[in-house]
Amino acid sequence: MDCIFCAIARGEMGTQLVFENEHVVAFEDLHPQAPTHILVIPRRHYASLQDVPPEDLSIVQELAAAAQELARERRIWPSGYRLVVNAGSEGGQTVSHLHLHLLGGRQMVWPPG
Ligand code: AMP
Ligand code: ZN
Repeated sequence: MDCIFCAIARGEMGTQLVFENEHVVAFEDLHPQAPTHILVIPRRHYASLQDVPPEDLSIVQELAAAAQELARERRIWPSGYRLVVNAGSEGGQTVSHLHLHLLGGRQMVWPPG
């Protein structure tokens, strides 16, 4: 399967990982939308959040735990941050490998675009 995020997780793209454990890796977004913009992904390929079967939903907890740790490291807490999961085309998802966007370091606005 030809998936850029799988290749990054396998260390094949030369992308520097800012977090890694057995199930999760994280790296800087190529086109940052905030001073901190990190993508947190499962090593295992799921095309979107909708593609995570119920028995694998603990991966979402692991992604959230990594985001918490990164937010602490980047000192974007307690000032605040935003976690985003785009799913599907109307959700704005462009890379079909589940990922959390961790955005921080500036004031966020609502509603999102
Ligand atoms: P989404 O639109 O939610 O699917 O987000 C995909 C994100 O992946 C975008 O913010 C892109 O800037 C980012 N992206 C795409 N390719 C790479 C890459 N090779 N390294 C880092 N970020 C990437
Ligand atoms: Zn993948």
